[in-house]
Amino acid sequence: MSTLEIKDLHVSIETEQGSKEILKGVSLTINSGEIHAIMGPNGSGKSTLAATIAGHPRYEVTSGSITFDGEDVLEMGVDERAQAGLFLAMQYPVEVPGVTMTNFLRTAKTALDGEAPKLRTWTKEVRDAMELLKIDADFASRNVNEGFSGGEKKRVEILQLELFKPKFAVLDETDSGLDIDALRVVSEGVNRAQQNNDMGTMLITHYTRILNYIKPDHVHVFIDGRVAEHGGPELADELEANGYDRFLAATA
Ligand code: ADP
Ligand code: MG
Ligand code: MG
Repeated sequence: MSTLEIKDLHVSIETEQGSKEILKGVSLTINSGEIHAIMGPNGSGKSTLAATIAGHPRYEVTSGSITFDGEDVLEMGVDERAQAGLFLAMQYPVEVPGVTMTNFLRTAKTALDGEAPKLRTWTKEVRDAMELLKIDADFASRNVNEGFSGGEKKRVEILQLELFKPKFAVLDETDSGLDIDALRVVSEGVNRAQQNNDMGTMLITHYTRILNYIKPDHVHVFIDGRVAEHGGPELADELEANGYDRFLAATA
């Protein structure tokens, strides 16, 4: 079993007005096989948490810790985080001119495993995964993310989940910009990765819509850089009905 443990995490960014604290003491523990939904209004710090786990240089951890199976994640480089089994969508390039999807996926897989995947089985694996995600076969020869629509980028993100088999995934607003069909396909991919690989998942979302397809075990409500409430799936139902007003009123 794997565990991602976040303890009293404080994160600041540099702005023109000086240092600004965004995360103000976040604690969360996520085990393999569990899906945790992080929900909250815009600007509450959800993406800051994802970017901090991914090792984005802009975000400075001023105190607290992130460990993965006891290893200090904050001491790891971005590549080491991936090699440890953390999947952080953001660490992958947005657009890579001149690099085809096929080459990108194979290079990334080789870097993750420390050896190149066997060509014949790999090619079949990629083809099968693309089919499951309803990604057109001609994507394989297109350049990474070049001219991909929002929905296509999300599918390719989930394609990486299927192929890289991480122990743990941080998915930030995976549902944004997806129509219902794409949402279903993408959600099925996350569920497959979770069930087949006993993956732990941090599913960050502003809206409850994706939670109709991906059932969280735990729900955490983010308000102003803190977890205002921990709960089960019923908390998502409450947010669906009432929005964030109750939580915002409590901090106003
Ligand atoms: P969420 O993902 O919940 O919408 P974010 O983590 O994106 O929230 O943002 C939290 C707060 O931090 C917001 O007030 C936002 O303006 C600020 N913030 C985050 N990243 C930056 C940045 N790179 N530069 C300036 N402000 C930022
Ligand atoms: Mg604190
Ligand atoms: Mg965000």
